[in-house]
Amino acid sequence: MNKAALGRLAKEVRKDYDLSEDVPFDPFHWSDENGIPFISLRDFTADEAAMRRFLEEKPHVWSAALLRDGRRSLVIYNPERSGERIRSDLTHEVAHFEAEHDPSPAWTGADSSCGGTSKAQEKEAEELAGALLVPQEKAKIAVIKGIAPLVVANRYQVSIEMATWRMKMSGGYAILERSRRKWGKTG
Ligand SMILES: [Zn+2]
Repeated sequence: MNKAALGRLAKEVRKDYDLSEDVPFDPFHWSDENGIPFISLRDFTADEAAMRRFLEEKPHVWSAALLRDGRRSLVIYNPERSGERIRSDLTHEVAHFEAEHDPSPAWTGADSSCGGTSKAQEKEAEELAGALLVPQEKAKIAVIKGIAPLVVANRYQVSIEMATWRMKMSGGYAILERSRRKWGKTG
């Protein structure tokens, strides 16, 4: 799927869950609606050593993991990351489901790269998750209106990096540049 198709899919998914384009995307709500549990590692494993390794020694090493057992799926996430990161990590996994990607277990690293799926699918999941978290039209309008990434980040409960990336990819800066040139404004 290209970027436009992924953008349309993101719009449809938001619509399916009655989310207006102005509110944050809540992956836990998606999880409830779809019967695919999102479980904190803290509640998942009773293995003390594994828990210590993930949560204390290397909390930054991974963000989320998609586990499949036959037809059942579940997602485990790292509760030590910030609320914004957890939202992004889990929305990335939502994107894999919504894009109907191959059912291979995918471990997600701290840099939000999954280990188990193809590069093309990772790019799709990244783009779709971004579009779910910060709708493209809204990112574009924010750029044109001169709204700061911090404000966008707060509205959608995402990191400033995510808001900045979505605004940069929205096409808003090109529109802004054209209108500045047309009207001879600088700065
Ligand atoms: Zn992935």
